[in-house]
Amino acid sequence: MTFQDDTAYALEEDRLDPLSEYRKLFHIPPDKRGRSQLYLAGNSLGLQPKSARRYVDEELDDWQRYAVEGHFFGRRPWMPYHELATAASARLVGAKDIEVVCMNTLTVNLHLMMVSFFRPSGKRKKILIEKPAFPSDRYAVVSQLKFHGLDPAENLIEIAPRESEFFLAEQNISDTIDKHGDEIALILLPGVQYYSGQVLDMAEITRLGHNKGCMVGFDLAHAIGNIPLQLHDWDVDFAAWCTYKYMNSGPGAIGGCYINKRYAEDDSLSRLAGWWGHDKSSRFRMGPEFIPIPGAEGWQLSNPPILSLAPVLASLDIFDRVGIPALRDKSTKLTSYLAWLVDKKLDEHIQIITPQHARASQLSLRLRRPELGREVQKRLGIRGVICDWREPDVIRVAPVPLYNRYTEVYRFVEVMQELLAT
Ligand SMILES: *Cc1c(COP(=O)(O)O)cnc(C)c1O
Repeated sequence: MTFQDDTAYALEEDRLDPLSEYRKLFHIPPDKRGRSQLYLAGNSLGLQPKSARRYVDEELDDWQRYAVEGHFFGRRPWMPYHELATAASARLVGAKDIEVVCMNTLTVNLHLMMVSFFRPSGKRKKILIEKPAFPSDRYAVVSQLKFHGLDPAENLIEIAPRESEFFLAEQNISDTIDKHGDEIALILLPGVQYYSGQVLDMAEITRLGHNKGCMVGFDLAHAIGNIPLQLHDWDVDFAAWCTYKYMNSGPGAIGGCYINKRYAEDDSLSRLAGWWGHDKSSRFRMGPEFIPIPGAEGWQLSNPPILSLAPVLASLDIFDRVGIPALRDKSTKLTSYLAWLVDKKLDEHIQIITPQHARASQLSLRLRRPELGREVQKRLGIRGVICDWREPDVIRVAPVPLYNRYTEVYRFVEVMQELLAT
């Protein structure tokens, strides 16, 4: 890819961008002077699709009009409402419909998955995660170990970047699995690492883990809606995700799970049960025995919060229209453009810690002078630039192909140059 360092080039790329129309489907928050913010934080909270309000309003209307009968007579009846999110979610993660369900939120789902897929026994008791893992994932894993009476100091393995590196070396991952695999019950890694933005080779990790007899699950918080996923073909055991980052479904929106088809009717798995996971034909007979729905739906507990699931449908509709391959194409180019500009114009101040061979929509930028961090973040805010600051010295910037532009990437680097020059 060849790029140019001027506004005219960025403008021309915006004009030629086959996805440029999609930006209009989103609300771009205004800055204090009423101009569009330069929003580069879609990896933290995606922008609101304009259609989300209609989806939510329609449910409020149906609740007003039908009350309890909305379960059956609403325009999207609430009884099977979660099913409306299944097929499009399955397409995004590369799964069969029976392998996917939209329910709960991410950390809750990680716990539910670990109840079923972390089954320590004999010599095989350990969990492998990365360092630094997202705090919630680490808390969840440590609490699961304790729940089983296991000492995290002995049973938690954390793969860290090598000395003076910021991402996980593939060799290090495979060596660790090779060395400790016989003692690892569960490998739980991210599809895209939240801090470094590194994309992990999920197919390879699954293969290595299975060779050693480990369960393999992925946290897809930063992967879904961002990179192509083929969970079924990769033979991943389980995965969980949230939908408010690249999926643009709103704060605390309902997340999802993938559970490999081989477990669809496996009644040897332990699991936590609730009535929404019970066989649909007999759910309302209210019998005392739990009969799970085959597949991922059988892991549901409660009837879903319709108002938090409505924006997920709005968002999935957009993803179905644009498709991940087109998003990935633009993302590759947009992120590469950002990286090229940063290397060219900001190298003195900034090191890109996202590995070039494994990037998606996010670049993590490390300030060479960390003491400037707070001030830079503050001034970016004043200039209407929204991105994400992570202690001690990293700015995470996500040019999102659905709604960000080449001119925004160009402008961001210009603003950074101005800020860092003074
Ligand atoms: C965003 C994120 C979470 C958030 O968890 P919630 O349960 O949705 O609050 C957890 N883990 C990772 C890796 C994340 O990126």
